[in-house]
Amino acid sequence: MNESGLIYLLWSDLVGMTRTRGVPLRDYERRLESGLGWARAGQAMTPFEHLADNPWGPMEEVRQIPDADTRFEIPAMSDYPALHAVICDSRPAPGVEWGACVRNFCRTAIADLKAETGLDLIAAFELEFLLQADNFVTEAPFSFAAAALQHRFLTALEQMLSAAGVAPETVEPEYGRGQYEISCRPRAALKAADAALISCEISREAARRHGLRASFSPKPTPDHVGNGSHIHFSLADSQGRNVTGGGPGPLGLGEVAAKFCAGILAHMDALLAITAPSPVSYHRLGPHHWSTGYRCIGVNNREAAVRVMPGISRDPDTAAKGFNIEIRAADCTASPYLAVGVLARAGLEGIRKALPLPPPAEIDPAEMTEAAREEAGITELPTSLDAALEALKGDEVVRAWFPDELFESFLSIKNWEADYAKSTAPEQLFARYRHAY
Ligand code: GLU
Ligand code: MG
Repeated sequence: MNESGLIYLLWSDLVGMTRTRGVPLRDYERRLESGLGWARAGQAMTPFEHLADNPWGPMEEVRQIPDADTRFEIPAMSDYPALHAVICDSRPAPGVEWGACVRNFCRTAIADLKAETGLDLIAAFELEFLLQADNFVTEAPFSFAAAALQHRFLTALEQMLSAAGVAPETVEPEYGRGQYEISCRPRAALKAADAALISCEISREAARRHGLRASFSPKPTPDHVGNGSHIHFSLADSQGRNVTGGGPGPLGLGEVAAKFCAGILAHMDALLAITAPSPVSYHRLGPHHWSTGYRCIGVNNREAAVRVMPGISRDPDTAAKGFNIEIRAADCTASPYLAVGVLARAGLEGIRKALPLPPPAEIDPAEMTEAAREEAGITELPTSLDAALEALKGDEVVRAWFPDELFESFLSIKNWEADYAKSTAPEQLFARYRHAY
């Protein structure tokens, strides 16, 4: 109660950025009920210093109301004070939902899936990022040298994540020069999105404390390896059993999970506008980069947008627990809440309509003949933000998932970003996104 210091009230917005207002820690308890005010128009912020056209006037407000369960602390380190934070829901008033709140969008999608199917969505993000500093030295891909070089940072990162209640599954160097990765642990899907937000912010903070900069931009420069934010998910029944696998089909998927994946594939082009929502996202996506360029599913296929990952164990029960699906066409310019929300909605749509699963890609889809791709229903993913936005606008099913004010302000922001990209020199464009994310 009498603690000194600040606690930051955090909320994630439509461009996947964490915004904040701070209050003295000693006032935290009294902020729990009705939070702090925030102009609704703020939800139309682009990643830069620009507010996109939006439906809200100068007097319209929401409250940023802390979800006390999400409170976390980054411990003090040398001359850095401890950092306290809590994630908020944006609400017109306590207990009232706001259609443009991304956390609300995610929560209601998961709740509808549960209400109609009895299934819980479990998810985990894999977050790739680029470390940078003046005179930054890099080592070979995946090498112990690359880990050892950043051992102080990586050790602090693991400690900070664990102290914040989001202990990672793995922390390691990736393929790119200066590229590293955190794999989050599987959690109930809303918590998984919270964990993604916290993990990204802690990575940035750990980097700051070590004289580094962490960027999650999907393509930090044209020459760097892309940063994905692969989203793993599984479906659990009311006993908590993983029912994602266990089917007789060629992909080993359970019956409901197959329909769930079919729903995602059916709406994939539109979903891309949500999961890969920036102009630079489309410099990352494409064949032969393991980032995915084709709308298809495959067992362990890193070139497929939807990758089926059977669990690995000698023991069939343990293997069944690990069975999961990975969505590779996602990056950190996406709101983790919107991304999880649309996956839940698309999956539910597949279940409702009992959509059939198309045949799997058994090799790199880029290596298949055009005729073979056509036969398997494998198509190229949208190759620009404009194309993905067109797909989103053209998909009436997906459109219906969004309250009007959320959809319209999202489109307004994204149209602005697409135009900004056209009128900006590539070097500056990459730099702006690299700094913003
Ligand atoms: N960096 C790749 C991407 O952009 C993913 C590499 C991997 O982890 O398989 O998605
Ligand atoms: Mg990776």
